[in-house]
Amino acid sequence: MTLQVQSAVSLKPFNTFGVDVQAKAFAEARSDDDVRQALAFSAEHGLPLLVIGGGSNLLLTADIQALVLRMASRGVRLLADDGEQVIVEAEAGELWHPFVLWSLEQGLSGLENLSLIPGTVGAAPMQNIGAYGVEIKDVFHSLTALDRQTGQLLEFSLGDCAFAYRDSVFKRETGRWVILRVRFVLSRAAHLHLEYGPVRQRLDEQGIGQPTPKDVSLAICAIRSEKLPDPAVLGNAGSFFKNPLVPAALAAELKRHYPGLIAYPQDDGQVKLAAGWLIEHAGWKGYRDAGNGAGVHRLQSLVLVNYGNATGLQLLNLAQRIQNDIAQRYNVQLEMEPNLY
Ligand code: FAD
Ligand code: NAP
Repeated sequence: MTLQVQSAVSLKPFNTFGVDVQAKAFAEARSDDDVRQALAFSAEHGLPLLVIGGGSNLLLTADIQALVLRMASRGVRLLADDGEQVIVEAEAGELWHPFVLWSLEQGLSGLENLSLIPGTVGAAPMQNIGAYGVEIKDVFHSLTALDRQTGQLLEFSLGDCAFAYRDSVFKRETGRWVILRVRFVLSRAAHLHLEYGPVRQRLDEQGIGQPTPKDVSLAICAIRSEKLPDPAVLGNAGSFFKNPLVPAALAAELKRHYPGLIAYPQDDGQVKLAAGWLIEHAGWKGYRDAGNGAGVHRLQSLVLVNYGNATGLQLLNLAQRIQNDIAQRYNVQLEMEPNLY
């Protein structure tokens, strides 16, 4: 067996909240065979298997009585190129942002709006990662996953993944699939999405009237770096709550009470509210628990932060207080986005 399994490993370096819990067993998978060996190890030792990538969408609330398998497989390749559309494939353990930069270096367009999202390629389909008006479903080709129930490899097309807002079949069937590699369909010609929020404004300010995909990526990196805490400096898992989708009647009623409310009507008749606005206007922006390091970021209320040695339970407790407050004030239920363990 080539898989190196360690006992009693601190997961602090492996989750961006920087929460210090222990894994009963820990290993890194660099190949499909390592994943199979990890499955065999977990069956043999009666231990559940928890697959992680960069740990940037996790809230760890207790020691993990499992074999934690960190995906560390590497490899990026062009599979097809008809001069217009290109299919690229990346292994699950590839880091997302370097993969985006690699695609831009190849002269490919499609991933630029998803620049600077932490984590791995293999985790990206889990919640159909999205930012600035693009989700991976927009550039997704297919993926290969291992079914942990049967040990079989399966190919998933776009339709099979049931992608939705921060959701997929992989998120709904938690723990069933190990995503091994993902394929994307990118373009040689630039098809840019600039209509979202401050992207066009930033490019205009820089005097860039005809942006390239690289210009868009750089603008988005700049915007993100100004607004979002760097997990290497301040522990966080990005947005802690999803933006709630509410009936149009409730959105209209809220808008009457709160004219500044940020709300985006959806094609299905529902309205997406900016959860960050609700939390900020309930007074939580910059809040910090006395006596522990759990808090709300001072610039972006949607981001919970670990100012010091907050435990996962303290962060969860803060999140639940925010949820209760938002439900009472606005009659809106916020759903947590990170995966809780
Ligand atoms: P992890 O946190 O390690 O895992 C997340 C989940 O996926 C877990 O349930 C895990 O079991 C599962 N998983 C991981 N790898 C695999 C695999 N190979 N096969 C099967 N299951 C797997 N998200 C966005 O959508 N948009 C953003 O703009 C965005 N910005 C962020 C900014 C910051 C500063 C931070 C900290 C987070 C942000 N996120 C964003 C959230 C997060 O980066 C993404 O969800 C990312 O895809 C998580 O990747 P990861 O490798 O860190 O996954
Ligand atoms: P923002 O630009 O301040 O916008 C606030 C919210 O309004 C966003 O959450 C976004 O929803 C929504 N929004 C803005 N413009 C919109 C439009 N034209 N049409 C529809 N909805 C619109 O948001 P931000 O916090 O700085 O984040 C910028 C982008 O990065 C967003 O897309 C956000 O989702 C993404 N992001 C995600 C995470 C994460 O962990 N999931 C962390 C950081 C940033 P959407 O969220 O649905 O896009």
